[in-house]
Amino acid sequence: MNAPASFEARLAALDAASLRRTRRVVQAKDGPQLQVDGRTLLSFASNDYLGLSQHPALIAAAQEAAARYGVGATASPLVCGHEGPHKALEAQLAAFVGRPRALCFGSGYLANVGLVPALVGRGDAVFSDALNHACLIDGVRLSRAEAHVYPHVDLAALAAQLTASTAQRKLVVTDAVFSMDGNIAPLRELLALCERHDALLMVDDAHGFGVLGPGGRGSAALAGIAESPRLVYMATLGKALGCAGAFVAGEAQLVEWVLQRARTYIFATALPAMAVAAVGAGLQVIADEPWRQPHLRQLVAQLRAGMATLPWRLLQSDTAIQPLIVGDNARALALSDALRERGLWVPAIRPPTVPEGTARLRISLSAAHGEADVARLLDALAELQTL
Ligand SMILES: *Cc1c(COP(=O)(O)O)cnc(C)c1O
Repeated sequence: MNAPASFEARLAALDAASLRRTRRVVQAKDGPQLQVDGRTLLSFASNDYLGLSQHPALIAAAQEAAARYGVGATASPLVCGHEGPHKALEAQLAAFVGRPRALCFGSGYLANVGLVPALVGRGDAVFSDALNHACLIDGVRLSRAEAHVYPHVDLAALAAQLTASTAQRKLVVTDAVFSMDGNIAPLRELLALCERHDALLMVDDAHGFGVLGPGGRGSAALAGIAESPRLVYMATLGKALGCAGAFVAGEAQLVEWVLQRARTYIFATALPAMAVAAVGAGLQVIADEPWRQPHLRQLVAQLRAGMATLPWRLLQSDTAIQPLIVGDNARALALSDALRERGLWVPAIRPPTVPEGTARLRISLSAAHGEADVARLLDALAELQTL
């Protein structure tokens, strides 16, 4: 056991490196306007890409489901936590993404940590992009499959690894939209490689589902690969859908196997019916209010055009995730603090979330923003460019 004093020293080391993380308490929300520490901040921090988290239709669906099912599912889905709204949502999600079957998990983290070990194990091989999300990395570790990390979106390196592998079962895992950079993985090319090497392709579309592709059907639909039987499509419901949870969609037998084997599905309490019902209503809103995705794209274009003249490096991203690379941890924090003084909330992202020397402001846009909000952020950044 560590003595308490050693935690003090370890925390002090975080402080010294500007790596201590803190939380701020949000007291109320009105679209992207958040009440924090008695002030109103315009937020560019959330993943509420379509602005659905406070939509009246989702709130009403949650209230109705809470009145009927209570506020919690009270058990794992395989005991008694699988309720009417869960069954309905799985069918709705499968239809939405054009796969035979879908299965809901309590969160994206739980989904990935459960899925990879359900698909591959000892003696198998898994191939993972170097910038994959932390929970995919943890899923790979837990699977005990032989892990090959390929350099970020390096198809040639991945092809070489696949060729060299003698494993029976092979699984390639990738973020569809990389969460700290905003770029989109070359899914079509990745699928072609998987076909050549008889591998499965697992795609984590946390940041694309609801936003990208025709009707918000996600990154796989955008790439035209949504219906491939090799695709294991995973997406989360806490980002563009504004709610909570995650799902996997794929071939019926594969999904049935996941239901039988994924420990984070079997041994975890099901999502509350109220969250599940809200997601169902959110899918309907996406269909009924098709202005949301094009409005978001327009804001992305406005922001990128405005930032082109600023001194910080802008990454190549067409998505709602727009990182400004500052480099130094303390400078990224200072910039984020100075923006907050001006009433804007833009988080500084530091290692280990991103590689050393690439601390950044991670600006994320939402359909809940207006053009005036983006203009206000651009003005503040222009004022702070000498900081
Ligand atoms: C947010 C995120 C997750 C985790 O999803 P939660 O529902 O928040 O647990 C998984 N993968 C990626 C790429 C993410 O950005």
